[in-house]
Amino acid sequence: MSRISALFALQQTDSEIEGRLASIAQIEVAMSNTATLEIAREAASEAETSFIAVRSKLRDLENAAEDSERHALELEKKLYGGQIKGTKEMGAAQSEIATFRQRRKEQDDQSVEAMVSLEEAEAANKAAKANLAEAQAEWDKSTASLKEEHARLEGQLPGLRSVREQRAKAAMPADLPIYEKLRGQKQSIAVAEVQNGKTCGRCRVELPLAKQQQVKSGMNIVNCPSCGRILFLK
Ligand SMILES: [Zn+2]
Repeated sequence: MSRISALFALQQTDSEIEGRLASIAQIEVAMSNTATLEIAREAASEAETSFIAVRSKLRDLENAAEDSERHALELEKKLYGGQIKGTKEMGAAQSEIATFRQRRKEQDDQSVEAMVSLEEAEAANKAAKANLAEAQAEWDKSTASLKEEHARLEGQLPGLRSVREQRAKAAMPADLPIYEKLRGQKQSIAVAEVQNGKTCGRCRVELPLAKQQQVKSGMNIVNCPSCGRILFLK
């Protein structure tokens, strides 16, 4: 292996490691983004709360209507059973019965309205629950494949790191700091492959003839006159 091809091999492994790390980071971001699920969960909880409130309101109205009716019946029993005597008292009882009956009628009307609301709230509750179940299933499904991919990529790292170690050892020790420094400056790509024997594979600049000759030997580090990367010719 020539001096420069050792650096190129190292570059390839570094790029592979970097690609895996970037994908792992992306997966972690995707897995932490639970916004859609949270919205569905909140909507389901709100729909449930409102359904319970309407149901309890209806029950209260029905109980109140029953009470009104019972009071009216009790008074009627007393009135027609002869327990209430005197014209004035009987008149008062009749007026009270009429008030209870009127109240009961109003409460029945309100119950009918509440029943309609209850039907709507029940339908909304069911829909929100179904939506949440769907969002949850979607989430489970997508995170299952994300988790799998995450584990697959993580599993590749130790092997790649040991290849990297070997490749770093195969390079000339004095070249490593040069390589690392360039990687830091050039978006992690320190070595550019020369294409067609004359063009920098990274910045696409055509190399002067003298440089082309130097690159061919593969013995010394030759930098691209434009982007500064180490040039490598297969
Ligand atoms: Zn270049």
